[in-house]
Amino acid sequence: MIVKPRAFSRGIHIAGHKSPTEHLPAERLPAPSELVLPLSQSVGAPATPVVTVGQTIRRGECIATRSGAVSADLHASMAGEVTFIGPRPDGRGGMTPCIVIAPSAAREDAFLAPLHDPSPEEIVARIGECGIVGMGGAGFPTQVKLTPPAPVDTLILNGAECEPYLTCDDVLMQTKSEEIVRGAKYLAKALGVSRVLIAIEKNKPEAIGKFFETDLEVVVLKKQYPMGAEKQLIYCCTGRKVPLGKLPANVGVIVQNVATAFAVCEAVEQGKPLIERIVTVSGGGIAQPKNLICPVGAPLSALAEACGGEQNAVKLVAGGPMTGAALTGEEAVVTKTTGGFLFLTREETNADEPTPCINCGRCADACPMKLMPMQTEFYTNAKEYENAAKYGGVLACIECGVCSYVCPARRPLAQAIKTAKAELRRKS
Ligand code: SF4
Ligand code: SF4
Repeated sequence: MIVKPRAFSRGIHIAGHKSPTEHLPAERLPAPSELVLPLSQSVGAPATPVVTVGQTIRRGECIATRSGAVSADLHASMAGEVTFIGPRPDGRGGMTPCIVIAPSAAREDAFLAPLHDPSPEEIVARIGECGIVGMGGAGFPTQVKLTPPAPVDTLILNGAECEPYLTCDDVLMQTKSEEIVRGAKYLAKALGVSRVLIAIEKNKPEAIGKFFETDLEVVVLKKQYPMGAEKQLIYCCTGRKVPLGKLPANVGVIVQNVATAFAVCEAVEQGKPLIERIVTVSGGGIAQPKNLICPVGAPLSALAEACGGEQNAVKLVAGGPMTGAALTGEEAVVTKTTGGFLFLTREETNADEPTPCINCGRCADACPMKLMPMQTEFYTNAKEYENAAKYGGVLACIECGVCSYVCPARRPLAQAIKTAKAELRRKS
């Protein structure tokens, strides 16, 4: 069944840059010589290690457990030996606590027993045991999202993938549609909802075609950025508006990424924890762009090598160019939420220095949340964070990056917003 979508106001139309990888099947990354697994791969508290240095572990074995209500278990993505537990460079100029594994050739897996016709409670428990988090980038522990604070009647699978360059979800939908549908049914059963939609931007015709024959309702979305943002997606699929400060559950909806639904299927039917994912490696600064199936913890350097190496890249990004994080080096690793790594050339980036704001209003005109980004930057630069919230509306910002993208003065607006949010959080 096809559902007629709405369009949200504002936002932008940007070049997709998806052609280098959108038709490439995902290939498996050659086994890296080292895996570095950050303890914090989800929203909430980092996991607590339950292994020690020198311990031999099997693939799928739990190596760190949840700490608190919002956190996620972490599992070994390859068999091997634990060689280090402690801080390692995060590729963004900081350090982060990790478990380091030297992989071995051992093939014995430590997966859980498959579940047959599981109850809603068994599905939620299994998702928690398998360390599944939102794989679209948010990283919210999925078992927590399945116990919403308000009754819900609709599950939306997010296959919009509106970020330029990234094709990991597209390729997954093209090749694993049956598993995604089964995963969606487990999620729907856990939530007690009967209406399940899958929302895909219209620039992915092969993926869309895979779901026409299923019993999911298919929403073919207009190509508009940031279509994949939860509030915009919910409005376009259902017409419901999530009020400021409220959750999707408050309007009866839960959104899950298509890769998360696939991971849920594997967790239920194979007992397989979330230990690997598809990562798009792209940009003009990499020799052979690819979609790679990577173990969590695989170093970026191993992915670059598998793609023929870097060539004239001036900027490295983890994630997409609009919402991703700029990297300072190749120490970054694949996490549960890594959709891509981009190697961008000078022509693909806007590396020029910012110039003064000319009050053109383009940032406000394009903001999908109808905010005043120039006000946020002004007050953030003055360290007046309360005024940034009052006059810029920073707390409603979804960090989509549209304002920075459209600014003719190349003002670092999205960066200022992140700073203001962090300062306001620190003070609260
Ligand atoms: S202010 Fe926030 S929501 Fe608005 S365009 Fe900028 S990043 Fe996006
Ligand atoms: S788009 Fe840039 S130059 Fe124009 S008002 Fe916003 S911050 Fe100023």
